[in-house]
Amino acid sequence: MKKKGSLFVVCGPSGVGKGTVCKELLRVRPEIKLSISATTRERRKGEIDGVNYYFLKRNKFEQMIENDEFLEYAKVYDNLYGTPKKYVLEELNKGNDIILEIDPQGAMQIKEKFSDGIFVFLLPPSMEVLRNRIIERGRDSKENIKKRLKCAYEEFDFIREYDYYIINDDLSGAVNSLIAIIEAEGCRVKGDVLEIIRKYKEEI
Ligand code: 5GP
Repeated sequence: MKKKGSLFVVCGPSGVGKGTVCKELLRVRPEIKLSISATTRERRKGEIDGVNYYFLKRNKFEQMIENDEFLEYAKVYDNLYGTPKKYVLEELNKGNDIILEIDPQGAMQIKEKFSDGIFVFLLPPSMEVLRNRIIERGRDSKENIKKRLKCAYEEFDFIREYDYYIINDDLSGAVNSLIAIIEAEGCRVKGDVLEIIRKYKEEI
């Protein structure tokens, strides 16, 4: 009997490696689905529309807000980002596990709507490593690096809102921890096991 899909939210400060961890997770576990967000930010070199994000003009994004097409949306560093509702609900209904890689503002909106969502926070091995990762990405001015690190400190204060944390020290270790969480959550006693037991009882 197929288990119900679960909704996983992967969060963490800018530069912690959420995208890399999620990408590697999907490579080793292709059955897990990843929600593709919509954003108003400019496309970066190498990014593909419909693969990395749905890159939208601001008026289109605002129209989607009006039409209630987002599960959550937030302004992150001057751009709008949102999780389209349709795909996530369809995959959950099909019984698939789905991952949302979003910022903490979005995570808290999801928590309001999905009380049984599973919230995972990625931590850097140290603040020095986080700073170096942001610098090595080469996308941010000195001023922006400061802003991102300040934001990370503020996000740490909400760690109790999450169910799990993973220290992203090395990629395969972080991915293995995420897989362990997903598998453990798949075995959690919840509504679908009652359905299984009800069916077993009918067989007797
Ligand atoms: P980037 O522009 O570097 O790809 O992402 C910037 C931030 O936006 C990251 O923290 C990322 O997790 C977050 N983000 C990406 N998609 C979404 C989304 O759909 N909703 C929210 N709230 N944040 C998102």
